[in-house]
Amino acid sequence: MGYAEVSVNSPIAQRRTFSYAIPPGLSIDVGQAVSVPFGDKLLQGIVLELSDYPAVEETREIAAVIEPYPLLSPAQISLARWLSEYYLSPLFDAVALMLPPGFERKALTFISPLPIPADFDLSSLTPEQKQFLQLVQKQDKINLKELEKTLGKKKVQTIVSQLVRQGLLARSYQLEPIKIRAKKELYLSLAVKAGEAQQEAARLREKRALKQAVLLDFLSRQSEPVPWTEARQKVNSNKAVVDALDSKGLVAVQQIEVRREPISYLGIKPSHPLTLTTAQKSAFESIKSSLLQMTKGQTRPPVFLLHGVTGSGKTEVYLQALAEAVRLGKRGIALVPEIALTPQTIERFASRFPHKVAVLHSKLSLGEQFDEWQRIRKGEFDVVIGPRSALFAPQPELGLIVIDEEHEWTYKQHDKSPRYHTRDAAIKLAELTGAVVILGSATPDVETFYHAQRGDYRLLQLPERVTPNEGSPLPQVEVIDLKDELKAGNRSLFSGALSQVVAKAVASGEQVLLFLNRRGAATFIQCRSCGFVLRCKRCEVALTYHSAEEVLVCHQCNYSIPSPQVCPRCLSRRIKFLGIGTQKLEQEAGYTFPQARLLRWDSDTTKQKYSHQEILSKFRAHEADILIGTQMIAKGLDLPLVTLVGVVSADTGLNLPDFRAGERTFQLLSQVAGRAGRGTLGGQVIIQTYSPEHYVIQAAAKQDYTSFYDKEITYRRQLHNPPFARLARLIYSHTNDTLCQREAEKMKRLLIEESEAKGIDDLSLIGPAPAFIHRLRGRFRWQLILRGSDPSTFLSQIPIPPGWTVDIDPIGLS
Ligand SMILES: [Zn+2]
Ligand SMILES: [Zn+2]
Repeated sequence: MGYAEVSVNSPIAQRRTFSYAIPPGLSIDVGQAVSVPFGDKLLQGIVLELSDYPAVEETREIAAVIEPYPLLSPAQISLARWLSEYYLSPLFDAVALMLPPGFERKALTFISPLPIPADFDLSSLTPEQKQFLQLVQKQDKINLKELEKTLGKKKVQTIVSQLVRQGLLARSYQLEPIKIRAKKELYLSLAVKAGEAQQEAARLREKRALKQAVLLDFLSRQSEPVPWTEARQKVNSNKAVVDALDSKGLVAVQQIEVRREPISYLGIKPSHPLTLTTAQKSAFESIKSSLLQMTKGQTRPPVFLLHGVTGSGKTEVYLQALAEAVRLGKRGIALVPEIALTPQTIERFASRFPHKVAVLHSKLSLGEQFDEWQRIRKGEFDVVIGPRSALFAPQPELGLIVIDEEHEWTYKQHDKSPRYHTRDAAIKLAELTGAVVILGSATPDVETFYHAQRGDYRLLQLPERVTPNEGSPLPQVEVIDLKDELKAGNRSLFSGALSQVVAKAVASGEQVLLFLNRRGAATFIQCRSCGFVLRCKRCEVALTYHSAEEVLVCHQCNYSIPSPQVCPRCLSRRIKFLGIGTQKLEQEAGYTFPQARLLRWDSDTTKQKYSHQEILSKFRAHEADILIGTQMIAKGLDLPLVTLVGVVSADTGLNLPDFRAGERTFQLLSQVAGRAGRGTLGGQVIIQTYSPEHYVIQAAAKQDYTSFYDKEITYRRQLHNPPFARLARLIYSHTNDTLCQREAEKMKRLLIEESEAKGIDDLSLIGPAPAFIHRLRGRFRWQLILRGSDPSTFLSQIPIPPGWTVDIDPIGLS
């Protein structure tokens, strides 16, 4: 085959590949990294396909091969193509997810002086141009970036363009230098036989060359080469001593490749599989038989949903399923939400698969990531563990993919392209490789559970908690109606019941979590007398209060009304209650519980003072009695001294302008309730709310996923929201608000025209409206929501102008 289709690392390339001829003598494989000429640059690219004929008439040749082996497997290439097509992202962005860490290199621009033609009139140049030319002439080649840094980007670019046009300067391009390589260390060994070395050492001793004698002696007693850093410490030597022995031909110095290993196995003892409960065993057996069937060539791998309450032992099922996959000659990938990738999680896996667990995440040095990636590719690990990006590790013989806490929103990459959801990408990869997928959660994503109900996924249930004290029940949850508190004259943030139990817990040396459903102030208004919240008639989401204009706005469809002075339901004047933030909560907790030591944990405190780990270990060490925080404290913490969780206000998150607000609140409340009573002391949860009758609060209080799901799925069906339709969110951002609105309206007209022209009648457009976060980093944002059975395919056929961001299957609309 004489031609290659290459995905090129250039923003111009977008979703397509480019044809290149393979020069004679060069052997090229699919998945290989190459450098190719692109315009007047030389860029990196990945070969996605080989063919006998090019897709265009004129092709250029591949310039060079970057790595001798393919970086992407055929399955990964198909996955990258799918990610690019479905999420409408540039193809190379999708390919880049699977490349070795530090691989991507930008093209740098250099300029060099050319000989000045004899007939050139130098006096025709401006003083500025002349000065610049003199500066460049002092060197052969200058990095343009360096010049821009000292002289200013605009100015340099203008002058360079002028001088290039006059034939006085030339531009050239080069890839930036390689960022990381395999790490090498100096090793020492004897260059002569041990006996000879010892005689030599004795002779050196006589000559009073003691340090040389000691090192030689030491090396003559080693059976393998010794790292120089180790030898230096043990015999107190230095480099001059090594050089002296080296020059006498007694010692050999070599560079040996070493491994940067992110898991320290010191203190990790191998662990054995635990005895499974009946429910765990039955779940495990189903997975086991599917793994076996896949090795026998079944074509479509199953997706399991492991639905188990907090503490029901899902991880043990993952570990045993992974061991089973390994027994069948396969390997696994286990994904956890970023915040759950703690040393404890890694330890749990590492102790079950000693030295067979790779960790990949962004906190590792680039060198560590690079080494792990290379070793994974060589098949040295049974399991790769990491956050969403670990899905793209080059794990060979993939047989099992585990996604723990599958409902977590961090599985969606929402801030950069490709805006993929890890769950969907994992299921696609599993289809391509024949791997079994396990999705695990105590509060599954509504869409996932819907698929399990329909039989698209296979549902496995773990209904009981496996706790230290046998059969310990889930914590008691009590819902407090804040309207009653107000009627009784209590205006504080704490209901009578909550302040009583907090004081009692603190007095008995136990710990308390106080939880706000959302950081900062609420944005909706609520009637404190009857709990009423104003909602959009069309979208059902809570209207957002804009205090400056005294209006309520729907951030999905732009419906707006003046803010009412009295509650439309009960005519109370207490309609403008705006909720509370963590800071205010901390203040009031200080007054109400003067004897308690407080600790606040939200993104403000963690930004300024401590890291999450620091705050957490402080609290674990019982250096505080009450921990105050937002979402973050709900997630995966194991705090044995916590016996009480107080949800100070459950309503804030419930009234975000997003159809998933209910689902998210249910997940958070369930998780936060799961924090209580992890130890032997048992637990109690108090939820304060103005809407105690709300189905989300009711279900969370009973920790009853099914009753939540049944209501939620009914609303989703009625309003035609996912999983009954798919969404695409289009955002236009610009520093000028009016321009944003205009562009958004223009886009709406274009989309309507296109859908009419194509005869698509199941698409609906919501908006345009200012985004809930209307202004972000100085830019205004307007959004359009597209709802239908397949907005991705529809949008893929429409040229999207610059300035727009398209998010397929967005996880949040606020
Ligand atoms: Zn009211
Ligand atoms: Zn609306």
